[in-house]
Amino acid sequence: MAGILFIISAPSGSGKSTLVGELRKQVTGIDFSISWTTRHPRGSEENGREYHFTTREEFERMRDAGEFLEHAEVFGNYYGTARSSLDEARRQGHDLLLDIDVQGAAQVRKSMPEAVGLFVLPPTPKVLRTRLRNRSRAEGVVNESELYRRLSEASKEIENYRDYSYILVNDILDRTVAQLEAIVLAERFYRNGEPIAVRSSRVLEVAAACRLENSRERLKPVLEAFGIEGNSSQQQLPFGDDPDDD
Ligand code: ADP
Ligand code: 5GP
Repeated sequence: MAGILFIISAPSGSGKSTLVGELRKQVTGIDFSISWTTRHPRGSEENGREYHFTTREEFERMRDAGEFLEHAEVFGNYYGTARSSLDEARRQGHDLLLDIDVQGAAQVRKSMPEAVGLFVLPPTPKVLRTRLRNRSRAEGVVNESELYRRLSEASKEIENYRDYSYILVNDILDRTVAQLEAIVLAERFYRNGEPIAVRSSRVLEVAAACRLENSRERLKPVLEAFGIEGNSSQQQLPFGDDPDDD
């Protein structure tokens, strides 16, 4: 593939879809794979725009016919990336971005180790909970058990952060979008020698600061808050406080 394969993963509610939406507005030459899923559309989602919504039967047929590059069951629903997304990006010579969970990312990494992995973290468990609840409210459905399920999964997913090349902490949206854009441009520069505009001379610095190996200090408090590393007495449990205090 002439283009670069980017994979972005994050616990649900971290802001991944928002970030990807912003990246789409700002960077050309990158396709965004539309996954297949058996979950129902949420809020204003439309078939063929956010996802291809389908039945379990049809998904299983596609899976058994080998039509997926990767697939996984997440929160009780199937999700998968059609091989045709990759074929189409290759044909166009475009980069491709996959927004997939940690299980799917591991499958893609096995067959395509050159893929560039980005992991998005919410700044704290409390912020994650607030974002999930606000999104549910905005969509007119606050399903407490679904919310609880997604929060409980968050720490487990975050444990996989070391498998990704770049780590973004989505605190201030504009800053995280700028980091995401910088990573795409920096990878194009390193892999394809694509020039970076003079006005964007800080791009390489910004991208380098997001690399896993340069993120230790920045990540420490975030990981501790999710109970992943460090002093467990400092943990704020993701769903431990009064549910209405945000
Ligand atoms: P995901 O795709 O990771 O599940 P979304 O993009 O749907 O998450 O974001 C979850 C909620 O958080 C949305 O209501 C979104 O508007 C909000 N959000 C995303 N990023 C930020 C940010 N940096 N600051 C504040 N709110 C954010
Ligand atoms: P949501 O239901 O909130 O849109 O997505 C739930 C989770 O499924 C997210 O972590 C998202 O990245 C993941 N996901 C979306 N599409 C795919 C896919 O095609 N494959 C895999 N493995 N995960 C996906």
